[in-house]
Amino acid sequence: MSMSTPNDIIKRSGSMCLTIIVPCYNEQQVIFETHRRIAGVCEGVDDFDYQIIYVNDGSYDGTKTCLHDIQKKDTDHVKVINLSRNFGHQAAVSAGIDAATGDAVVIIDADLQDPPEVILEMLEKWRKGADVVYGVRAEREGETRFKLMTAQIFYRLINRMSDTEIPLDTGDFRLLDRKVVDALCRMPEQDRFIRGMVAWLGFNQVPVYYRRDARFAGETKYPFLKMFRFALDGIFSFSTFPLKLATMFGLTISAASALGIFYFLYLRLFTSNWVPGWTFMFVAILFTSGVQLIVLGIVGEYIGRIYGEVKRRPLYLVDEDE
Ligand code: UDP
Ligand code: MG
Repeated sequence: MSMSTPNDIIKRSGSMCLTIIVPCYNEQQVIFETHRRIAGVCEGVDDFDYQIIYVNDGSYDGTKTCLHDIQKKDTDHVKVINLSRNFGHQAAVSAGIDAATGDAVVIIDADLQDPPEVILEMLEKWRKGADVVYGVRAEREGETRFKLMTAQIFYRLINRMSDTEIPLDTGDFRLLDRKVVDALCRMPEQDRFIRGMVAWLGFNQVPVYYRRDARFAGETKYPFLKMFRFALDGIFSFSTFPLKLATMFGLTISAASALGIFYFLYLRLFTSNWVPGWTFMFVAILFTSGVQLIVLGIVGEYIGRIYGEVKRRPLYLVDEDE
């Protein structure tokens, strides 16, 4: 007969396992330091066994060799998953999540922008019963003012448009309980916006505030365009508001044209003044065709996503793991 545990707080201590997932894309300059810091933190938690999963997301610098060395030095704790090419941060994290076996699972960037020491604080909250502990960036070092501003706008915008409340100023740095990880594994969607997916799941979610440091070394893999694309992914995957916007455009333009039609009928029927009006006509045609194209584009975004979903391709492919 299995022993049942009376409550979560007791369940969450003693001979448990912590998994840390680290997606890496061309991080050879930081990866050893990252490993030193993360392993240091994990060693400090003595009632926990731990597992660190590095997902090499198709790096073309020396990251693969570095990870191989790290793994060989600590085969008990380190697992490396080499993806077959660069699939992107969200897919790399998903690969880690699928492979994670821990009772608590932490997602952290490889560039030390998220201080590994915060994991201890996350664990404390988890022990007290939290199912998701998400990092909130109270301060951010070494980001351009432009990135901070666009991030601000983005998180506020997406929250207005979507029914899922995504906490402001969070990234993917977070701790997930086993049951949340299992739930996440049941979400096969292709356009992955993990912070939104976790918010959608529910459970007991609590924040932990931290200072986001500057990158330890190397450069960001998210230049503006990629960031913009990612932001659109967030919006289109979590909101159908753009479609409603299309309807609103359509209604407004139709109402305006109705007025126009009456006006022209009046000119045509009751005055002799109906040849002029070319300017207005051209403006109207250009304007409405512009709006139509925008609307078509919005609809296209969703169709493209539906197309991506129905292909049912795997989110990532593993080349080899060690
Ligand atoms: N990353 C990845 N695949 C990619 C791009 C980035 O696995 O295609 C990893 C990267 O190695 C880092 C994390 O995702 O660990 C966040 O990337 P980055 O620091 O470049 O983004 P930023 O913090 O500037 O938004
Ligand atoms: Mg970074």
